[in-house]
Amino acid sequence: MNAPLSAINCFQDRDGYLSWLSDTSVQGPRRAAESDALTEIASKADVNLHCWAHGGRARLGYSKKGALASGYNWREFGQCSECGAITRIRLVAEFIDRAVRNYLNPTIYLTEQLTPLYKLLRQHHSGLIGSEYVPDRSLRSKAEQRLRAYLGDPTATLRHEDGCALTFADESIHLVGSFDVLEHIPDYRQAIREFVRVLRPAGQLFLTAPFLPASEATLVRAQIDPTADNGIRHLLSPEYHGNPTDPAGGVLCFYHFGWDLLGELRRQGFRSVALAEAWSRETAVFGNQQVIVATK
Ligand SMILES: [Zn+2]
Repeated sequence: MNAPLSAINCFQDRDGYLSWLSDTSVQGPRRAAESDALTEIASKADVNLHCWAHGGRARLGYSKKGALASGYNWREFGQCSECGAITRIRLVAEFIDRAVRNYLNPTIYLTEQLTPLYKLLRQHHSGLIGSEYVPDRSLRSKAEQRLRAYLGDPTATLRHEDGCALTFADESIHLVGSFDVLEHIPDYRQAIREFVRVLRPAGQLFLTAPFLPASEATLVRAQIDPTADNGIRHLLSPEYHGNPTDPAGGVLCFYHFGWDLLGELRRQGFRSVALAEAWSRETAVFGNQQVIVATK
């Protein structure tokens, strides 16, 4: 299979990334190609792509909801006509496929289970493990019913994992994928230590979370504080993200990370850490899509 690959550029620090981002000889042609594609899909013309989420050709979908004043929200839109995967899901599926293709029976752990990414990846990765954070045992059977209906699999079991105390053995996992989860874990450094512990030597962590490319320091939005209401002190107006196991509720965002997150990953035991930026016309990975790649 000669599937098209997204072009990936890796950065170790803020200044190198920002100067590349402001290089119009790189970014100009990309924005022009995105603008052309957007015009075509908005007028219902076909824009073809290779989708890594289902592993085949498809057409790029358009949604009016993706059109923001700041530009088109490619990350959360750009749906595949075949499997429905949006850009960020198609992209992390590509990262995972490319990373594990040389392993015979890779064990892949995703810090999510009741999600489109898990549902798509389980179709072609038999060693895939997903989990949700459902500390309240009385809610687990309800979440499991929802999982079974969502996957169309009456035998599926919901796995509960606490990111700060994973139940996996040391060095038992080839690849960890944690996408838009770390910002919800107050003690995220402990979660990083757990990722290091469970990964095999040379194993990789792929990570996305709200990231401030111009900021060295992580922005702390909320803190655990036993003296505050509900045990949480808000330093900024509370920001809630969708929670697949509790669609009516939401989950509090504690952090928008800065470049110090990469330093934290190195300190906790990853020998190589970079911000990877991906783009491709052939895979329709548009916008500035970032994935942090950390190798043990
Ligand atoms: Zn697809």
